[in-house]
This record gives sequence, C-alpha cells and structure tokens, in this order.
Amino acid sequence: MSRALIAGLELGGTKTVVAIGDRDGTVAEEFRYPTTTPEETLAIAIDWWRERGEVVALGIASFGPLRLRRDAVDYGVYLTTPKLAWQGFSLVDFFAKYLPSAKLTIETDVNAALLAELKIGAAQGLKNALYLTVGTGIGAGVCCEGRLVHGMLHPEMGHLRVPRFVGDDFAGVCPFHGDCWEGVASGPAIEKRWGLPAHLLPEDHPAWEMEAYYLAQGLFSANTILSPERMILGGGVSQAPLLHERISEHMRHLSNGYFPDLGVLLSPPLLGQQAGIIGALLLNDTL
Ligand code: ADP
Ligand code: ZN
Repeated sequence: MSRALIAGLELGGTKTVVAIGDRDGTVAEEFRYPTTTPEETLAIAIDWWRERGEVVALGIASFGPLRLRRDAVDYGVYLTTPKLAWQGFSLVDFFAKYLPSAKLTIETDVNAALLAELKIGAAQGLKNALYLTVGTGIGAGVCCEGRLVHGMLHPEMGHLRVPRFVGDDFAGVCPFHGDCWEGVASGPAIEKRWGLPAHLLPEDHPAWEMEAYYLAQGLFSANTILSPERMILGGGVSQAPLLHERISEHMRHLSNGYFPDLGVLLSPPLLGQQAGIIGALLLNDTL
C-alpha cells in the first residue's frame, strides 16, 4: 500500500514550492521550481508526489485573485490575474481529476503566510493580524477574530488609494489604476521611478524616505479599518535597511497621538521564505 501524504503547494508569481509534511506545518521534504503554465506547473507537482505516495490532503497557497468562497460556482478559479495562462483555470477541477482522493483547501499566498505566522511565527497567539508583502506586487493577508478573511473575493489591499508624497508625480505601474498603493510602492514601481531595482538602491537614497511614507500610509489605513494586534511586513522590498524604523516614524506622524504607538504593531516575519509553504501544510489542519 502506498504511503498517505499530507501535502502543501505554494504557487507564486515566479516560483512554485511543492512539499510533503505534517498538518502542524512541519516540512518533511520540499522542491522548488519556476511557475509556468498551470498544466505544466501542476503536472510537476503531481509527479513529485506520486514518487512518494498518495496525497490524502492538499493545502494550496496561491497568488490571486482567485475565488475562495466554497459556495461559489467558480470556487478555486483564477480571475483577473495578470498571469494570463492562469485566468479561468480551475484548481478544483484539475485536482478532482488528477488527485481525486485528496481533500483540497485553497488560500491566498498571503493568508497562508499569515496563518503560518499566527501558528508558529511573529503573530503567535493572536487573533487579529495582517501580513503585508511588498515585492513584485503588494498584497495583504488578514485575520479577524481568528478567521482568515475572504469576503466576496479576498482583500486586495495592494489596490488601496494612498495620498501622494508631496512632489511625487510618478504615474504608477498598476495596469488597472496607475497610482494605487502597489502602483507607487511595489518593487517594480521603485525600479521604474528611480531607474534601479530596489535592492541596488543605497540606504541613504531618497527612494527609501518616499517608500516608507507610502507603506506607512497604507498600513495606517489598514489599521484604522481592521485594528490588528500585529502587522507583519514581509517581501523582498521589506528587507531594505531601516525601512521598518522609517515606516514607524511616518505612522507616528500620521497618527498624531490618536493611536498608541503604531510602530509596536509592526514586525518582520519570523518564518521568512518558508511562511508560504508552512502555511500551505497548516491549511490541512483546518479540515
Ligand atoms: P516576489 O514578489 O516575486 O515573491 P520578492 O518578494 O523577492 O519577490 O520581491 C522582489 C522585489 O524585492 C524586487 O523589486 C527587488 O528589487 C526587491 N528586493 C529584494 N531584496 C531586496 C532588499 N534586500 N532590499 C530592497 N529590495 C529588495
Ligand atoms: Zn491597482
């Protein structure tokens, strides 16, 4: 008889991580490879699992947008993703066909990362938290009163409107809205505005004051709406030196004494690059 596997799958804009492990988030073995078309990307995952046993439970942490309401007719279908090959693709139909014995749970990559941080990371023991990633895009996972938030679709906080930094007339890079939060503060926005990728900009470059201003604006708005107990800031851009301190300073100005020091709510992720795949495994625990 083949071995029963608890599996995790993290589908990222550029890379995919496939894993086996435990429902408590322990990764026993994982494999990383580039994300291409849905059929090709998922076939690699299925072959990888088949060599190891039979998947009985699969947690998927994916980029979006995709429908996550289980009662929706298009549950598990990708919507207006800029990754055109994935638009309209149904994860539910695919896995019903190729892994019919697996119990499937699907989440956004950011909600899964937040779940991991809630269970064993920087938001352990809390019921209200936000996980913001600032990288190729801006995205947030939200947990309110112990439940990951989906709503009609799922939060798409990267498309918040943010007041402009005085003197900044950069048009923004969001193909839908131009200068939404992601449009002015994502990695590609920084690169287009300043002519250098974020990780090559020196610590004292004016880009970082502006970046801290924009991230503080969005986080401040998120705080007013959700009242989180922690706001975890991850993603490639968040690794810039002194960025957390600068954001805290801007939030203090915005708050103007109204909220107790918002800076203490801000935290780097504890699980780093592993949060997504750990979260994917943990999804199997909520069955
Ligand atoms: P993805 O969004 O594809 O998951 P990342 O979260 O790594 O990938 O985000 C990539 C962006 O992060 C790029 O714009 C890159 O310039 C920026 N970045 C990566 N590392 C750093 C760093 N140490 N400091 C500042 N920016 C960084
Ligand atoms: Zn937008």
